[in-house]
Amino acid sequence: MYYPIAIMYGSPNINIFISVFNTNINESADFLNNIPILYIIPSIVLIVIAALALKTRKYLPNIKSVALIAPFLLIVLFNPLKVYSTTNSITSESVRFTLFRFANELYQSYKIVVASELKMKQLMAQPSTWAPSLPANDYDTYIIVIGESVRRDFMHAYGFSIANTPFSSTANGLFFQNYISAAGSTQASVSGSLVRRHNGELQHNNNIINLAKKQGLSVYWISNQGSLGNDDFGVSQIGKQADSVTFLKKGEYDAQSFSDRDLLPHFQQAIVEKPSAKKLIILHLMGSHSDFCSRVDHQYDEFFISKKLSCYVQSIKNTDNLLAELAQTASSNHKKWTMIYFSDHGLSAMHQEQGKVVNFQHGDRSKQNFQVPFFITAYDAKQRKEIHDYRSGLDFLSLYAQWTGSEEPLLSDKCDLLSDMNCHKKIQVINFEDKLVDYDSLADLPFTL
Ligand SMILES: [Zn+2]
Repeated sequence: MYYPIAIMYGSPNINIFISVFNTNINESADFLNNIPILYIIPSIVLIVIAALALKTRKYLPNIKSVALIAPFLLIVLFNPLKVYSTTNSITSESVRFTLFRFANELYQSYKIVVASELKMKQLMAQPSTWAPSLPANDYDTYIIVIGESVRRDFMHAYGFSIANTPFSSTANGLFFQNYISAAGSTQASVSGSLVRRHNGELQHNNNIINLAKKQGLSVYWISNQGSLGNDDFGVSQIGKQADSVTFLKKGEYDAQSFSDRDLLPHFQQAIVEKPSAKKLIILHLMGSHSDFCSRVDHQYDEFFISKKLSCYVQSIKNTDNLLAELAQTASSNHKKWTMIYFSDHGLSAMHQEQGKVVNFQHGDRSKQNFQVPFFITAYDAKQRKEIHDYRSGLDFLSLYAQWTGSEEPLLSDKCDLLSDMNCHKKIQVINFEDKLVDYDSLADLPFTL
């Protein structure tokens, strides 16, 4: 039954467990919908073979069964004995027999995720150690829009052939041409960007929400992504620390799906209430999350290669329209606003038909899984500038502090991340095993027609 997932995402790893823990019925349906039938057929064949084998059970005399079991044991024990002969110890990892390895990988990943969730809860109960100065510029409304699964090369603003980004293609501001997301999946990437990392570990008590609060900002978290009721994990738990919290989807079993446009009234309300307060408003979109056609109600303006890719291109257009409306709403309420938009991660090619890529999926092996749009626009932005130097999602909090004109000792980045300055940093990303790897070591698999 795991076979289709193994083809798409590999053997059980930490990321798969984090996703399972953070999902809801709706997302699960999208996930299943996205598995090509071709991948499911071998699973069905295997299940049928297993059923037939159980039906045709034979009882063999003892001698014969020993003769059959001995080679089996030899196969299972070969690697552990080999490991033992060189290291004098046996661990569960040394058993490479597939069935056992599979069960062990499941168990080990589960154990790590549960332990890290527990640690996160303990850390979040501690006070933050941020000590920022107050924002030094005169914006009164900081808006961060966290997009979902957008590859930069599928945005017209970054050179895509179809004009699917009328707002981002013409807006003034800073356009980062080489921003690399922190990770290849939502939970790891968003917490990797919004939480301070120290000595390789996330310090959950120092996150963007309590940083902004200490900056004297009134913080809003408005999300179209899941929240699991009382038993929260990861990103939603960070979001819940905001002064005002809105989750369109409530609870694990809420199967209703919302459009990102449903966030607009909540944004409007955040803009108008407490008129004298300086605010940080964070919106977390469903954006271009698979299944792409569910995101756009199976409707698209222009066909591109396959139905799924056409929906993908359209979902990016819808997000671009949403950004335009957010800017419009802030302006018409006379706010001195500035807005960051970025995507949590990119995607890689998945399913091919006749040599053409017809669908995308999450991944951590190619550069394209991490190449995301990132730009900053504002009510008073007068020109459009490009920043070509590499910037990392792992430095998002430093970038945030610079954007708000605030000094924070724990984020004392010497480099001006908002100018096209070479910061001489090795760019790294978090892989699905929760390990940092060099971005340069990843395969470059650009999309080709
Ligand atoms: Zn995502």
